[in-house]
Amino acid sequence: MARESLKSKRERVLQVCELMNEHYPHPEPALHFDSPFRLTIAVLLSAQTTDAAVNKVTPVLWEHYPTIEALAGANVDDVAEILHSIGFFRTKAANCIKCAQMILSDFGGEVPRTMEELQKLPGVGRKTANIVMNVGFGLCEGIAVDTHVFRIAHRLKLSNAKEASATEQDLLKIIPQEKWTSVNDQWIRFGRETCSAQRPKCDVCFLADICPSYKK
Ligand code: SF4
Repeated sequence: MARESLKSKRERVLQVCELMNEHYPHPEPALHFDSPFRLTIAVLLSAQTTDAAVNKVTPVLWEHYPTIEALAGANVDDVAEILHSIGFFRTKAANCIKCAQMILSDFGGEVPRTMEELQKLPGVGRKTANIVMNVGFGLCEGIAVDTHVFRIAHRLKLSNAKEASATEQDLLKIIPQEKWTSVNDQWIRFGRETCSAQRPKCDVCFLADICPSYKK
């Protein structure tokens, strides 16, 4: 594909957003949560792990540690035992506890509402902070770039950046801000159902006409 102008890329990504809205009119996060704190922990746990696997362990975690205070005072081995079925469970167990402790010590027991403060929490990077801001507080300051969003942005040739953070910046330049809020949930569903990592279903893809990576 010849080098595409920013204008053309913006027009194409608008079509992508419209088609995503048609196919996924009610994007919803796959992780189960009922508070910003539980969302923060669930997203932290979801790194390198499926949302379904996280949804299996979080009910047990909340049964044992129903409050921020309870998790802050937990024993790391006990939490690791609950999380043992998900990847990196020991590190995540330690981060969950430290995260709860910092929310109590530095933020008055409330999950902070800025990207900068959220990223101070142990185990919370920009992707997690974006999701907490967007889904937990309805404040959209960016686009959470996980493995699906990264892959789709590259297949659609909307970014050729090697890092997730640079890919996010490329997307923020071409996607209108009012559309940022839906991107993560819609693109994740699309990535799971159609544009999968190993076998993209180009033959049935609703973006086939505008995708430079379409393969017969
Ligand atoms: S045409 Fe193929 S590569 Fe392009 S978005 Fe669709 S499934 Fe993915």
